[in-house]
Amino acid sequence: MEWEIVMGLEVHTELSTKTKIFCNCSTQFGGEPNTHVCEICSGMPGTLPLLNENVVRYAVRTGVATNCEITQYNKFDRKNYFYPDLPKAYQISQLYLPICRNGYIEVTGGDGSPKRIRIHEIHMEEDAGKLIHDEWEDCTMVDYNRCGVPLLEIVSEPDFRSAAEVIEYLERLSAVLQYIGVSDCKMQEGSLRADVNLSVRPKGSEKFGVRTEMKNMNSFKAIGRAIEYEANRQIELLEDGKEVVQETRRWDDGKGVSVAMRSKEDAQDYKYFPEPDIPPIEISDEYIEQIRNAMPELPEAKKRRYIEELGLPEYDTGIITGSIYLVKLFEKTVEITNNPKDSANWIMGELMKLLNDTQTLPENMSFREESLGELINLVNSGKINRGTGKKVLEKVFCDNVDPAKYVEENNLAQVTDTGAIKAVIEEVIANNEKSVNEYKGGKTQAFQYLIGQSMRALRGKAPAAEVQKILKELLG
Ligand SMILES: [Zn+2]
Repeated sequence: MEWEIVMGLEVHTELSTKTKIFCNCSTQFGGEPNTHVCEICSGMPGTLPLLNENVVRYAVRTGVATNCEITQYNKFDRKNYFYPDLPKAYQISQLYLPICRNGYIEVTGGDGSPKRIRIHEIHMEEDAGKLIHDEWEDCTMVDYNRCGVPLLEIVSEPDFRSAAEVIEYLERLSAVLQYIGVSDCKMQEGSLRADVNLSVRPKGSEKFGVRTEMKNMNSFKAIGRAIEYEANRQIELLEDGKEVVQETRRWDDGKGVSVAMRSKEDAQDYKYFPEPDIPPIEISDEYIEQIRNAMPELPEAKKRRYIEELGLPEYDTGIITGSIYLVKLFEKTVEITNNPKDSANWIMGELMKLLNDTQTLPENMSFREESLGELINLVNSGKINRGTGKKVLEKVFCDNVDPAKYVEENNLAQVTDTGAIKAVIEEVIANNEKSVNEYKGGKTQAFQYLIGQSMRALRGKAPAAEVQKILKELLG
């Protein structure tokens, strides 16, 4: 039988507001355990939450950027459950009137044409703390620093049919969230987390199968592997005449398996009720209009502009516009070099190689943004050759050196004084009588050898064309 995979995504994104959603504690990642906490986010009795307006602003901005309708009268609800990382024993979230609804993000469908993945809703909520199990054998510790960090939960419809669609959606969504400045989307720090609801059904069937929910995936690669594993697990069960159990499963990327965690709860299990401590939020037309007018250029528009105005290849623009960090670097580099093609080529070639070799994500690049443009100018002006340029870029990338200073201090500038080049080549000719004679006897390889010797004697710092020209002249 042929099976079809049906998936929906719940994406949690941590907002990059400076303070938490209901108190003034810092949202900064890391920090000593339980140092970014107060009586409100640690759930002391008698405290009251005060909503951070920036959370509403970021939510509306996200809704506008993902083609959603904004719920102009929306409310918070209490989601009741007890868990040690949630000191209040309830999470303030939105169930009945979420702030955004009915949006979509476009991906490439299975047949290659654009496909809309519908967004069912986006709601605001608070994050829970973190349990730390690994460091001690006999106890679990809890760190409440993350408690009350604002989250948006972006819930899609079950519109995905392949892992490729899921990953493209996540890439596009995180690019949009980065562009509009609401989240840094660092998966490894947990600021973008995706849960995948997955079921399978016979191809052609309209009825949904029983779904499982997979959590704990912290990279696109892990998500791809988890989907493949879970789909196969369900298909095997069904083909053996067994049943899929509705449950929450945890993906163990190290072992490459998903393990059952708990039975999957439905909304009624949480005994939701309207949050009594926060009044409803009313959003005016003007507020939405203001946000709409202040929207920055979004990834798709930027991509089209790069292709049409700058004449860049589609593939390159797709990669560059996929990350706001690459976009910022590219635009700064073009500003300095006034040469979009060269700027894109250095990013797509040398920089990508360095990112791959060191397994670095663009958001973790730590060199000065101006350095790449300055380096390209050094190469294009002939001050250093391309080979040296690549080596200097490596130093820029790893140690954040200043390109011009580094070239100066390490004496890497090209020798442009023809007299000096000539003197070195004359010496090479004098020391390689045998090759000179071979060349004169018609052996072209001998010429290549002499070029190589000359470049070596010049320590690679003379323009190759110039060396070739002078050598030819001297050999007569
Ligand atoms: Zn607090």
